[in-house]
Amino acid sequence: MAESVQIIDHEDCASWIELSKSAIIKNINTYRSQIDSHIVLGGVIKGNAYGHGFQEILECMHSYVDILFVISPSDAFKIRKYEKENELIQKRVIVLGAISPAEAVLCARKVIEVAITGPFWENFIPELRQCEKEKGNSYRPLKAHLHVDTGLSREGFMLEEIQTKLNFLKENNDLIYVQGVMSHFANTEDVTEQSYAFEQLTKLDKAYDLITAELNIGYKLEKHIAQSASTLIIPDSHYDIARIGISLYGLWPSNETKLSAKVVKSELPSLKPVLTWKCRSQSIKKISAGTYIGYGCSCRADRDLRVALFPVGYFDGYPRLLSNKGYALVNGIRCKILGRVMMNHIIVDVTEATRENTSEVVATLLGKDGNESVSAEQIADWAQTINYEVVTRIAPHLKRMVVD
Ligand SMILES: *Cc1c(COP(=O)(O)O)cnc(C)c1O
Repeated sequence: MAESVQIIDHEDCASWIELSKSAIIKNINTYRSQIDSHIVLGGVIKGNAYGHGFQEILECMHSYVDILFVISPSDAFKIRKYEKENELIQKRVIVLGAISPAEAVLCARKVIEVAITGPFWENFIPELRQCEKEKGNSYRPLKAHLHVDTGLSREGFMLEEIQTKLNFLKENNDLIYVQGVMSHFANTEDVTEQSYAFEQLTKLDKAYDLITAELNIGYKLEKHIAQSASTLIIPDSHYDIARIGISLYGLWPSNETKLSAKVVKSELPSLKPVLTWKCRSQSIKKISAGTYIGYGCSCRADRDLRVALFPVGYFDGYPRLLSNKGYALVNGIRCKILGRVMMNHIIVDVTEATRENTSEVVATLLGKDGNESVSAEQIADWAQTINYEVVTRIAPHLKRMVVD
């Protein structure tokens, strides 16, 4: 007789992520209210949608933003696939990161726009030429945004070298259609006075005027540089497109941005965090005073305790720096993490949050429970990093679900 093995569903013994679609929509509307109606609002969904989950966020956001920004062409192709399968209108998609010649051809075919960020793009030409030959009249030029390095020293062309690139673009204007000129800020979220940002804007203006004059084209190029922080605090940065990342997920780019917004705005815009991270306990047990807890015996019970073991650890993106420092919420009460955060486990003091006979609890690792909350900023503070990194590092293997 065949033995029947009961497979335990992995989801039942792992932490999970809950996403609020209504919070995303609220944050999008908040940003729309900050910009003129002719300015195009883009949602940035790089880094697995800031760790929130690419596919889930795509499905929540697609119909509410005007453009979707990604780093890799493969994510752009996923967007086109999703649109096709669901018979949705194609949104504008812009790839911000590096692309290969073969990917450039695919982007041209699928009407995906790309950022031209460095000299490698000259390698696109032979492949695009080949594609044009094959397609004849139905060839659509690759739409491109010239990335100008105005002070971040990351991707993009320096102001001084643009001139030489333009000749090349002019020669190949049947293959590449220049759609816009873009740049990226270096320090808007790190400071409360924005002189460096204004220097960047001046450089972008210069580059834009040069490119417009040299390309001698009969249409207006788009200009864009704004992200979450500058859209709120530097109206001069809005231009044609706002590329909003972190704040569509309900998070402030930094405290400095929040302080600046308080000064600039009569009313501080309200952002609603989209993500909650939860975990069901694996077991609860009593530990008597004097017992060591966790690797390294770094914690010792100072009294009799009830502790819960949770199947979450640094493998899942829960920072090890929260060892003996962070807390999780159980029944609306802050509960300390005892000992070290392990690869797949944490141990939490639930003495105050449970009763003698409690056999199972659900902890909120990030998010709200009753009147208490653990914010991404709080975790970032414990882990000596920024909220961007905290959420982006939440492992892709965890299950995401859209809850409202
Ligand atoms: C990440 C990114 C953004 C979005 O920045 P946020 O601070 O998350 O709003 C915009 N533009 C570029 C080029 C980026 O890399």
